[in-house]
Amino acid sequence: MKRPRRVGFPTEHAPALLRSASLWTALAFCAPGFLAAQTLPTPPSGYILNDAHFHLTNYIQQGTNIRDFLKIMGDKVGRVALFGIPLQQTWSYGNTGDFAPAYYLQSDAPLYYYSFTDAFIAMAYRSLSKAEQARFDPMITGFNPADMYAVDHIKRVLRTFPGVFSGIGEFTIHKEFVSAKIAGETASLTNPALDRILDFAAEAGLVVILHNDINMPFPKPGQEPYMLAQMRDLLLRHPDTTLIWGHCGVGRIVRPVEDQMAIVERLLSNPQLKNVYIDISWDEAAKYVVASPESIARAATVLNRYPDRFLFGTDEVAPKDQAGYLKVYGIYAPLLAMLIPEAREKLLKGNYERLFDEARRRVRAWEKENAQ
Ligand SMILES: [Zn+2]
Repeated sequence: MKRPRRVGFPTEHAPALLRSASLWTALAFCAPGFLAAQTLPTPPSGYILNDAHFHLTNYIQQGTNIRDFLKIMGDKVGRVALFGIPLQQTWSYGNTGDFAPAYYLQSDAPLYYYSFTDAFIAMAYRSLSKAEQARFDPMITGFNPADMYAVDHIKRVLRTFPGVFSGIGEFTIHKEFVSAKIAGETASLTNPALDRILDFAAEAGLVVILHNDINMPFPKPGQEPYMLAQMRDLLLRHPDTTLIWGHCGVGRIVRPVEDQMAIVERLLSNPQLKNVYIDISWDEAAKYVVASPESIARAATVLNRYPDRFLFGTDEVAPKDQAGYLKVYGIYAPLLAMLIPEAREKLLKGNYERLFDEARRRVRAWEKENAQ
């Protein structure tokens, strides 16, 4: 996550990276698996990873059928933190005419919070057998984090669909190109509505996956990354909330801040922030880590030093096949190759199981105590 020598869009980087990673990836994919994916409702012992960050549906609430997705997971992916996307792109005829936008960059019309996503995810999960359900940790996302009532939505979802959800998120406060397009009040890290949400997550044992950019796009030289200070204060206000910071705050054009890895190390070494984790999902984030031999080595040093604090995720949205779904895993091959066995195992599998097993246990207990 060190500042790369040059920054481009992943389409410029990915093919070469994938080529260099292809042998390693091919070898890794040869993990034992004796039966066809369709006949394996539970993960086989040889699966490669758990995915802590996955969107079944896209910005217009369309996506992959969950049964097709189980086949895509196959015998490579054990468990998946499953969510839709809380935001719906409006198709404004006045803005794009007959062109139906499917992504937030394809229209100037606003995004709005689409709460039905939670019911959709819950029903998809409930359509599965018990053994298939065991491979998913569904997450609640369909709330407005600028609304003091958001926490009531989360409670209502838990009570309506008991036995389903393990956490909340990925939801977003600051995100390049996205936050400014959302109808209504702009979300903020300083909004008490967000504090209420994180307080309740601590009470119920919900894992939180939060997207918050570490900086603004195209900052002027020396400009203070105010989001970083606000993020630190937010985390310090919620020491009992298990929080996964999505992509460590980087994005398409939000670059790692100066000394990002030093900042990450300060965060991870702070005993008051031991409840904070980082997911390394998204090909847009991976490009910074694998930008140079130096950036890979720097990231590997931190992951090896704090093996309990990082989770692998794909951040794929509605994938069509396994190759597309596991693209990010391939991009990270040079990083994975530099990890000590303990750090690699915990990044890919162990930390997920520890956090989400605990969330399942605690959220089921909250549901039992607070049943209607
Ligand atoms: Zn995401």
